[in-house]
Amino acid sequence: MKIYFIGAGAGDPDLLTLKAVKIIKKAGVVIYAGSLVNKVIIDKYADKDAKIYNSAKLNLDQVCRVYLKQKKKDGIIARVHTGDTSLYSAIQEQMQWCDTQGIDYEVIPGVSSFCAASAALKQELTLPGLSQTVIITRISGKTKVPAREDLKHLANIKAVMIIFLSIGHIDRVVKKLMAGYKNKTPVAVVYKASWPDEIIIRGTLATIADKVKEQKIGRQALVIVGEALNKKNFKLSKLYDKNSSTMFRCGEIKK
Ligand code: SAH
Repeated sequence: MKIYFIGAGAGDPDLLTLKAVKIIKKAGVVIYAGSLVNKVIIDKYADKDAKIYNSAKLNLDQVCRVYLKQKKKDGIIARVHTGDTSLYSAIQEQMQWCDTQGIDYEVIPGVSSFCAASAALKQELTLPGLSQTVIITRISGKTKVPAREDLKHLANIKAVMIIFLSIGHIDRVVKKLMAGYKNKTPVAVVYKASWPDEIIIRGTLATIADKVKEQKIGRQALVIVGEALNKKNFKLSKLYDKNSSTMFRCGEIKK
């Protein structure tokens, strides 16, 4: 038996990787994070005889018990998480448990919601001259953020910042961000990026909280902040600069 920890993408089933689809089709057991994974993915690709579990209703012990029940059997388990597996997916504790049990596993990456949100905004996050750094973070909730990573410290860097799991605390988020960014810094909130009911809200640090509350957005959204969102005053890339040479082509002006 082998477990595949799969990043199922941000929501749109077409954002699944080919590898994810192959594994979900083959799996005798599918456990998906029902709070965020699009159920259409399971309905469309899981085998009709597969055992399906919604992990939103299970604790870690119960999930591991499902794994244990299959341990001696052949076949595979598809453990389907939202977005990419590397961010806020709680897979490490499951892999650690698999190590103690000698259970084989593999991780299949997926399209994170921050990638789908950037695409929805038609936004490159790393614009020369404005920002070459993207910070991925969250505000403290049930899971605490280490004090040195508090939003008010990170805000001082003034990079592009993507804030997960925090839309329900938008007032607190904005207050902390104002410790570093100017009030007129552009902010976008993307709700359900890549889903049919996706919503994009644009504003500034000064206006975004009211707009979010007006639309009653309380979950499944990302806050993206940074000067790059203005899409103005950035420098053109060196990569395609006609006067700049790269390993693969010669620039027009020779030094
Ligand atoms: N591993 C996931 C993140 C899981 S944490 C990923 O890579 O995207 C759950 C948080 O992700 C949500 O609270 C929300 O902030 C964000 N999120 C997940 N799917 C989203 C989507 N389609 N649109 C916007 N935000 C989303």
